[in-house]
Parts: sequence; structure tokens; C-alpha cells
Amino acid sequence: MSSSSDDHLPSTSLFRAFAKKGTVERAVLLDCFLASGILEDDPRGGALFKAIRKAGEEIDAESFQMLQNVSPALFEQVLTGQLAIPRFSEFRQEVELIFERVSHNHDGQLANYIPQLERVDPDKLAASVCSVDGQRFSLGDSEDFFCVQSCSKPITYCLALEDQGEEVLHQYVGTEPSGKTFNELTLNAKGLPHNPMINAGAIMCGALIKRGADASDRFDYVMSKWKECAGNMKIGFDNAVYLSERQTADRNFALAYFMREKKAYPPDVNLLDILEFYFQCCSIETTTKAMAVIAATLANGGNCPLTGAQVFRPDHVKNCLSLMSSCGMYDFSGEFAFRIGIPAKSGVSGAIMLVVPNVAGLAVWSPRLDELGNSVRGVDFCRQLASRFKFHTFDSTTGLTDDRLDPRRNLYESRLSGINAFCWAAAEGDVAEMRRLVARGINPDVGDYDGRTALHLAACEGRVAAVRYLIELGVNLNSVDRWGNTPLDDASREAQSKDSHKPIIAMLSEHGAKQKNTVRSASN
Ligand code: GLU
Repeated sequence: MSSSSDDHLPSTSLFRAFAKKGTVERAVLLDCFLASGILEDDPRGGALFKAIRKAGEEIDAESFQMLQNVSPALFEQVLTGQLAIPRFSEFRQEVELIFERVSHNHDGQLANYIPQLERVDPDKLAASVCSVDGQRFSLGDSEDFFCVQSCSKPITYCLALEDQGEEVLHQYVGTEPSGKTFNELTLNAKGLPHNPMINAGAIMCGALIKRGADASDRFDYVMSKWKECAGNMKIGFDNAVYLSERQTADRNFALAYFMREKKAYPPDVNLLDILEFYFQCCSIETTTKAMAVIAATLANGGNCPLTGAQVFRPDHVKNCLSLMSSCGMYDFSGEFAFRIGIPAKSGVSGAIMLVVPNVAGLAVWSPRLDELGNSVRGVDFCRQLASRFKFHTFDSTTGLTDDRLDPRRNLYESRLSGINAFCWAAAEGDVAEMRRLVARGINPDVGDYDGRTALHLAACEGRVAAVRYLIELGVNLNSVDRWGNTPLDDASREAQSKDSHKPIIAMLSEHGAKQKNTVRSASN
């Protein structure tokens, strides 16, 4: 059975080649990495890819061993399929289909509050994925730079948390959704910004990063952190956007003054400095390729999957993801959390950064926006993603009850773990656990590899209550295991030495269960 599930691993053809001729083609080995999503520009694989390229066309066992020694951990993960998304090519194909469908959506308008955003090609579309094990792919215009706008807010928040700690920082900014637009002139009942994902909150968080340092050092620091999150990919800065943000910033100035009037800031804050810092953060430029790695760093508890750098503390990332879940998508945040259920942050440049905790980071960019300021195709992409994959935060409660995919698990593994758990519960007579598993979608009729069903096991172990429950469920009473035995055969065999099985025999017989000879002759 395990060999059939391994068929889907990119390394299968490699092992077959070794078994058959004792060598493997270099192309097959390379393909094994690429199909797993480990790309040639991966900082972990630089030396390894170089060595593979240098190796001959045919790699024998000795050279294979040498290559393995270059990057033992990565090699093992790839060859054994121990990666966050084991069937990566299939996952990619599904996402490609979604991307293609979304590309036909031409609804929405470009942001027009600054001319720079109005000049962007509205048809641009890009999406990138990076798993928490650094498996990547990108689609469309994924090398194009765009300004991050409000997608800067989660990072600014994490940086402020690193600097101040949760307790101090949240004396200056709340954690509640505002229920108002992102730049609404409003503060909470304590006179503080509602949360760090709206303008007032981001301006406040910015004020708390490296307090007292020069503006230039603060900016350098932020840029270096963005780069670190992105696995050292290039992060840019759009000066024209920055200048025009500054020129058209009446609302943000109003917010900043409003906070000052309410005495919301810590002492010695220079209002112009913190606003400029905020405009600079909005004007940081990136690609979806890099933004997906940043999102994956958040999905991985602050640890960049490509470099292993611990950029943020895991508890700070947890705080950030909580706020992205409740406040990350402007006035659509509640609806997004309900329908899609993936922590996300969008920006008016048309970018959305998505974080599937412990699985992957994703970035989508398409500049046309809906009336709430979210990218139309971006939201469409997220919706379709959530309807194809079990990525909703609370999908863990629905278990196997629907047929959406769970790319983090091998298909057989997820199916079998449910069946095994059910059979074990039946063998132990744990009816409460059986009920729970049935509620989660386990088919109580399915047997294990040997065709042993929960009823076989319950009958064999003398579990009266479990047998009764299975009869109530209406399971097939006469399924035969690989040795041709029915549950009644099991119970009868055990009853020869144990009295405890007699009520089970009575119960099964009363409901029409048969022994193997009768089953066979009935079916003949
Ligand atoms: N620079 C924009 C502003 O502060 C950010 C808008 C956004 O992406 O939400 O108004």
C-alpha cells in the first residue's frame, strides 16, 4: 500500500532508475527537486544544485552519496517526501486552474487616490506560493514590483512587538476590529487606534519601532527586516509613491493629530517623523515571489523557510495572525474570516498576503479593487482557494466531512488515519470516540488493508456497546475480511473460550449476520 502512495512522490522514478540500472540521470534527480518545489535559487540548495549541474549525465551510487552529503537534510526531505506539501505538483496544478479562472475576472477599478497607482497596468496578475518547507512556485507577473501599501502593516506590527513587547505595545494600540474604513477618523473608547491593521494603528506602531533612532536608521532597519523575512530576496522602494503619499496625506495627518489631541502617543513623538515613516512603509516595493516567502515566514512562526532565520518571535507572529484574521481585509474582514478563514492582509495596490499557518504563505497581486479596497481578483482567488482546499482556520473541526483537498497530507495517510482511529476505537469499545469520528465523516463500513472493519474488531474483542452502536449505524454485518471471515465468525471463534462474546453472537444473529459458509453459499 505504501508503494502506491509513494507513486506520487517525485523521487519514485529516481528510485526505480537506481533499482533498474544502478545509476540515475542527472535530469531525473534535478526534476525530483524542482517537482517538489525546491527551486534553483533556493539559498539552501545553492551548493547542491551547483554540484548536481557539475555531476555527469548519469549519476552512480558513489556520486549520489557525495551529492547527498552536500545538503543531507534537504536531500532526505525531498527524497522521502517529508515536506509540508508532499504532492506539490498536484497542488500546483490545482492552484494554476484557480489562477486561470480568476484571470477572466475584469471587475473593479484601480485605486485613484494617488496618480502612481492609477498608472499601473490594470491587467497585471500574479500569484506565488511558498510552503513552510520552502517549496515554491509562481504564476503570471510574479517578477513585477508593486508597492505593498497596507500589506506593510503586519510587518510594522511585528517589528513594534519585537521592540516593545506585547504588554507595552498594546497600551498604545487596541486589538478590536474597528468596523470602520481603514482611514476613518476614529479611535476607540480609550482614545487609541482600534488595531494595528488600520492606518491609525500602523502609524502608532511605526512610532514605537526603534524610538529615538535617526529616521534613516529606522528606515534601514525596516528594509533589512523585510529582506530577512523574504529570504534575502530584493525588496525595493518606490520614491514616487512615497512622495505622492506625502502630498495627499490630509487624512493621515488628521489621524495623527487626532491621536495627539487624545494623548495617545508615548512622550517625545515627532508627528512628522512618524507620518513619514508610515508613508515609507507603504511605499516599500516587492514582488509576489518575495511576498509569498514573507507570508511563509509568518506561517512558519517567524522562521524564514529559505534561510532558517528566526525573524520574529513565534508568539508575536501568533498575535499578528490573530489580528490579520479579524482586521486584515478592511470592511470585508468579518466576511473574509467567515467564508475564507485564512489570515490575510490586503493593500490598495491590489496585493493580498495570505498565511496558512504551518502550511504556506501566498501572495496575489492584481490592481483592480472592489469598493472596499480589496483586489477583486485577489479575493476571487482566495475564495476559490478556500473552496478547493481545507485552508479555513476551522476546517480542522470538519475533518473528513467534505471532499476538499488537504495538501499538507498524503491522500492515503489522511484517509487511513481516520479508518485506523475508528477501528482502534471499536476494538477498545470506545463508543464516544467512534461517534466523534463518525461526526467527522469517517465511513464506518470501510475496512483496513486486510478488510477488517470496525465491526470485525468490536466483535472479536467482545465489545458489546460498540457492536450495538455499529448495528444502529446500519453497517454491513456480513463484510468479509481477507481471510473470508465475517464479524460473526470472529465472535463465534472467540466465544469458544469466552462467555463475554455470547451476547454479541445473539445481537448479530438477530440482525441478520451470517457466518462465512452461509455468506458464501448465499452469494453463490
Ligand atoms: N497609503 C495608504 C493610506 O495610508 C494605504 C492604503 C492601504 O493600502 O490601505 O491611505
